[in-house]
Amino acid sequence: MLDGLLRDVRGFMFDVDGTLAHRGPDGRAHPQPGAVDVLEKIRASGRPLAVFTNGSHVTSEAMAKALREDGIPVQDEEMLTPVESAITYIRRRYPDRPALMFAHDVIRARMVAAGIPQAEGEEAGVVFVAHIDEADLKDMERAARAITRGAPLLTGSYARGYAGANGIIFSRGAMVTAGIAKVTGVRPRIVGKPSRAAVEEVGKRLGLPTEHIAVIGDDAGMDIALGRMGGSKTVLVRSGISGTIDLDKLPERHRPDAVIDGVAELLEVL
Ligand SMILES: [Mg+2]
Repeated sequence: MLDGLLRDVRGFMFDVDGTLAHRGPDGRAHPQPGAVDVLEKIRASGRPLAVFTNGSHVTSEAMAKALREDGIPVQDEEMLTPVESAITYIRRRYPDRPALMFAHDVIRARMVAAGIPQAEGEEAGVVFVAHIDEADLKDMERAARAITRGAPLLTGSYARGYAGANGIIFSRGAMVTAGIAKVTGVRPRIVGKPSRAAVEEVGKRLGLPTEHIAVIGDDAGMDIALGRMGGSKTVLVRSGISGTIDLDKLPERHRPDAVIDGVAELLEVL
């Protein structure tokens, strides 16, 4: 089944946590069995690959570097995050609009360097919420006023939290986004997984129509949903968050084309 599914695939997108790696309590990534071989085998076949994680706390280059240090060979240009898709999305849809960014300094600097002007006063034409540790209520009020004037409310991820060593870590970005959404009545637009913006970013980075790629991930509601949105071939790995999920209970748009226990199973068909 997997063989037939992947036979004509021309590029690959992988999730990181729960798919290529498991994260230890120290935050370091531990490669899953076969993960390194899978990436190398794809490269040897001459096909492009991308790795998409929903983190937005550091730049994609810093993330790729950390993965390489942990033994997972991911190149800078293969690493995708919601910040990358936000940059592409804002530049295409809202060129030259000053953005009010709830994000770490490195991310703000990255977006400015990519040609997105930073809003200084009340002139924000876009609001973007990434991973943050602190937020100022006055900035949230400025954001709400900008949104009332027509600025879109973009967020990297609107998940309530992410897995920590001792259970869920609530997302402060989601808290800020929800607060702004509440007072403005505007629905946040996600630019990370799963979203149209993310689909477009993956296709652009791989240089392929997303119908010709395979998306491999452990989260049905994120990775598989992203793949399905772009018409990609989808493979759910049981090594992470959806390990015990009942596929029959998933909404149709979250259902994968194939299910495997771990990425090592891909080695037989690549
Ligand atoms: Mg994952």
